[in-house]
Amino acid sequence: MNILKSVGDLSDQHIRDLYYGFDSPIATLDCGRKCAPHNPSGKPFCCDVCHAVPAAYKSEWNYLEPNTMLWHVWRGDECESATKRDRARVKAEMPKDMILLACLGPSHCQRDFRALSCRQFPFFPYVTSNYRFIGLAYEWEFESKCWVISNLSRVTRKYREEFVRTYDHLFALFQGEFDSYAHHSERMRNHFSAHKRRIPILHRNGKFYLVSPVNERVELISPEKLQKFGPYR
Ligand code: SF4
Ligand code: SF4
Repeated sequence: MNILKSVGDLSDQHIRDLYYGFDSPIATLDCGRKCAPHNPSGKPFCCDVCHAVPAAYKSEWNYLEPNTMLWHVWRGDECESATKRDRARVKAEMPKDMILLACLGPSHCQRDFRALSCRQFPFFPYVTSNYRFIGLAYEWEFESKCWVISNLSRVTRKYREEFVRTYDHLFALFQGEFDSYAHHSERMRNHFSAHKRRIPILHRNGKFYLVSPVNERVELISPEKLQKFGPYR
């Protein structure tokens, strides 16, 4: 189980505006239909609490709780196969000032009430070591699970633009969010450096690049040449 992270300290209206401005589907097809057959539970991986536990800031939860029955606070018993150790790890990794949530599942999803963590998955804002938010990187632990990661060329321009606009806005408001993603990006560089790999980036200029995790040199790449993983090869 991994934690999906979200953002907070916002009014209800602000949350509604954020959701409205970050609502476009990630691709022109339903990617859940592509990945779900590879998950024994039959659910899309990002909607299966055994694989991903969404985290939301308290203000996001303050908005969701009275407006929808879709979510409840994560109890830890939603995934039958999770071990005590899995649950302890999720708790230990819970970002400060955030709440872990669980939803009713994909057959009951309400698009308008998806948390920001649902909307951004499988991406996070990538921040360079000299503190520039240059585009979208993916959650590398999902490489062999998430179809989108193996099909980055299918991510729509509109989704990318909404993602960048949303995080430009949030970073202008919350330095802590920026710092947190700078740290996450550094973790990604360490991981890719240890595995002698370059990081694929969906750049904010609309192009695709491979970034060296060591010297952060970038190379333009055709999206068709990007690596595929697991069952999506
Ligand atoms: S974002 Fe990835 S894990 Fe989630 S439904 Fe789409 S392909 Fe599956
Ligand atoms: S709210 Fe919808 S998109 Fe988010 S995890 Fe639940 S089923 Fe998936």
